[in-house]
Amino acid sequence: AGRIGDLLEVLGRTCQTHEETLGQLDAVAGDGDHGQGMTFGSLGAAAAGRRALERGAGARTTLVHAGTAWAEAAGGTSGALWGAALTAAGGTLDDAGGTGNAQVVAALLAGADAVQRLGGARVGDKTMVDAVVPFRETLRREFDRTGDLPAACRAAADAARQAAEGTAELVARLGRARVLGEKSLGTPDPGAVSFSILMGAVADYLG
Ligand code: ADP
Ligand code: MG
Ligand code: MG
Repeated sequence: AGRIGDLLEVLGRTCQTHEETLGQLDAVAGDGDHGQGMTFGSLGAAAAGRRALERGAGARTTLVHAGTAWAEAAGGTSGALWGAALTAAGGTLDDAGGTGNAQVVAALLAGADAVQRLGGARVGDKTMVDAVVPFRETLRREFDRTGDLPAACRAAADAARQAAEGTAELVARLGRARVLGEKSLGTPDPGAVSFSILMGAVADYLG
């Protein structure tokens, strides 16, 4: 469970580092608050995770609390989706058992599924789902093939980054950006970009 606390701190620091860039991306066709939302959410999640760990919580409880805190602290669409992802990831884990590599993969896959289920977006709608789906597919394929978690996570994060960059060519149809959809052409989706940045940080942490 200690690894989860460290990972949540990594997410918080990474969001802070990229806060301004993410806000600027969101300002092009959205309301400009994505950087702030991600920072508030991830720092809130890290703080809640730390409190849970201090009370002796296991992996499952820690992540479930962190997910709730992320959604509350962030507000906004992406906060709700990230909160649901952490909570769903935690739901696959066991408070008593350890978190081996296969469990980490299962948790990551469940988090990705939750984003798709809750948001209802499809690939091509220019949302974070455009990066989440290639991340999930690559992680599953590469971990099944090699059993190497850091390498599979690195490959998946690279796939997410490429897909996030590719969203620049799309026009947004969902979320707040839908009103200003045309304006988003040429700019990548902020939620897809932040997802790929955070998965890159997870890969760095695991590797
Ligand atoms: P808000 O739109 O409430 O201001 P944010 O700016 O934090 O929230 O997040 C915007 C991001 O949320 C978008 O760039 C997009 O990636 C993601 N998003 C919006 N709607 C959906 C959806 N239905 N499914 C998945 N992701 C979505
Ligand atoms: Mg926004
Ligand atoms: Mg907003």
